[in-house]
Amino acid sequence: MLNEKLFVKVNPQYTSQTYNRCGYIDKNNRKTQSKFKCLKCHYEDNPDINASKNIEKRGLESLGLRTNLQDYKSGSLSNLDSF
Ligand SMILES: [Zn+2]
Repeated sequence: MLNEKLFVKVNPQYTSQTYNRCGYIDKNNRKTQSKFKCLKCHYEDNPDINASKNIEKRGLESLGLRTNLQDYKSGSLSNLDSF
């Protein structure tokens, strides 16, 4: 039964090297274990949080959702309330 469980396969490759805000991939983004800094837009972030956001994003994309959970909760569904 396909509906019983929903598996989302996420390729973890590059999730630690990709900045979730701009999508820039570079192994030099992750200079140290404890620090993530995007070489393109120069934002800094917690490397673990950044990687988990990348994984979340890929999971949603693999389900055909090109948005993030925050948008989904706050945005598109609120239109339905007016009915
Ligand atoms: Zn960037």
